[in-house]
Amino acid sequence: MAVLELRDVHTYYGHIHALKGISFKVEPGEIVTLIGANGAGKSTTLRTISGLVRARHGQVLLNGEDITHLPPHEIVARGVGHVPEGRRIFPQLTVWENLEMGAYTVKDRQEIARRMEFVFSIFPRLKERLHQKGGTLSGGEQQMLAIARALMMSPRILLLDEPSMGLAPVLVESIFEVIRQLNWQGTTILLVEQNAHMALQVAHRGYVLETGRIVLEGTARELAENPLVQAAYLGMH
Ligand code: ATP
Repeated sequence: MAVLELRDVHTYYGHIHALKGISFKVEPGEIVTLIGANGAGKSTTLRTISGLVRARHGQVLLNGEDITHLPPHEIVARGVGHVPEGRRIFPQLTVWENLEMGAYTVKDRQEIARRMEFVFSIFPRLKERLHQKGGTLSGGEQQMLAIARALMMSPRILLLDEPSMGLAPVLVESIFEVIRQLNWQGTTILLVEQNAHMALQVAHRGYVLETGRIVLEGTARELAENPLVQAAYLGMH
């Protein structure tokens, strides 16, 4: 069964019809990427899945269960980890405290410790900075902390919104390396990226969004070889 399925999802901001019937699936163990220009509706798709904005029509299913009308905190509790655009960590809290906040629903201290060890195995740099305030971390480290905090929920699916945005090229490489590594370890990922080149290198499959609709879908290789994708999103002519 698909971890995540959207069926004919329509989302509005007031009168703006931002998603015009989005349908797709993410299967267990996949990295699926959503590609599209500014304003295509990529972030809105993630926000709709998390319940931060409401679908006016259609369904969002998590492991076959309809989560369309659940409040955001229940969607998180059921296993949707959302890392929004812009690294929204708690700047006044330490790395440790940020991670603890990520696991706020978990009561078992040992389980929290186990998850922290997992997170440190992926992000050793965070372990070295446990008592540093989040706001004093570098941009790349804050992005890592934002992902690490979502991992503390042990999500069934991780929604990543533009994880490479604003990072220097070398950090972009390391964020994509982390995405690969997490996926090897079993995390299912839905990745929104403007950097289509990198996204199609890590993803198994992808969907191309244009003004609230899916206009193309395929394996990452098919999309990377598609002349329309190359011209519009990969800067090739
Ligand atoms: P970007 O990469 O620029 O974030 P995106 O593909 O993620 O683009 P969305 O942010 O999902 O696009 O926006 C989809 C459409 O919805 C756009 O036309 C945008 O202007 C509109 N929109 C997004 N957020 C709001 C909002 N809070 N209020 C009104 N309109 C919004």
